Amino acid sequence: MLKRLAVLGHPVSHSRSPAMHTAGLAEMGLGGEWSYEAIDVLPEEFAERVGAMPREGFVGANVTVPHKGAALALATKASSEAREIGAANTLTFAGGEIHADNTDGAGLLAALPASPRAKRSLVLGAGGAARAAIWALGKEGAEVTVWNRTAARAVAVAGEFGAGVAEATEPGDFDLLVNATAVGLGGEDPFAELPLDPESFRAGQVVVDLVYGEGESALVSAARAAGAEVVDGLEVLARQGAASLRIWTGREPPLDVMLAAARD
Ligand code: NAP
Repeated sequence: MLKRLAVLGHPVSHSRSPAMHTAGLAEMGLGGEWSYEAIDVLPEEFAERVGAMPREGFVGANVTVPHKGAALALATKASSEAREIGAANTLTFAGGEIHADNTDGAGLLAALPASPRAKRSLVLGAGGAARAAIWALGKEGAEVTVWNRTAARAVAVAGEFGAGVAEATEPGDFDLLVNATAVGLGGEDPFAELPLDPESFRAGQVVVDLVYGEGESALVSAARAAGAEVVDGLEVLARQGAASLRIWTGREPPLDVMLAAARD
């Protein structure tokens, strides 16, 4: 029987995950046995939809905005990563159980050019993506500071993960910057919305923009022009996707093929 996979989100039509996973499965020689599709699910229908999936031949699912918290809540088992981050982006259906994982943090770490240990790191944002980034960087021994537009959320999330809070930031002071806000998704100017000055990026810094769209983001362009090392959102997406596919298939996915398909 076909082993079905899907990404569940709302909206989800923009997702690069179906192209990326379909290419990965084909390269692994699993294209005939496995499939991957996008399913748009309203929040009020999420639990029922997930509950029906094992009967419909699904063996797993990625979960994206706005369902990551609900995915963890309805799981019967959860990895320590998912529990600590407080969200799941990967569900596995087996033996009547729903197992929740979170590969967003591991995806970020895998995409970094070097270990963030002891690096002064600034995470912008306090939503789901930021929580995974703060958790992952903290676990690796980075010195993490959080900034968020709604300052109270930065204080709450920093307190939960033992990170610091930035009220005003001097981006040049940080070795690693991660944009985990939604800024850029709708074409917003990151230098108008975020406490970043394009002039203060520098060589020796690593700048990660989790947001991806058509072409290079303004943040990545400015950081690259200043000589910083850059990691774009698709680099992270491909690695979190590969980590999910490894969980479902038990095999090593072809990262280069998945990244190329995500960029296509
Ligand atoms: P979320 O939970 O809705 O959080 C959104 C965050 O963006 C909040 O911190 C919010 O601040 C901030 N924000 C929104 N508009 C802003 C603005 N105009 N100025 C300043 N801050 C603003 O979303 P999420 O799940 O964390 O996702 C965030 C982004 O990461 C999305 O673009 C998503 O596509 C991306 N992402 C990428 C990957 C990847 O693998 N590349 C993985 C996960 C997520 P407030 O608290 O003030 O509202």
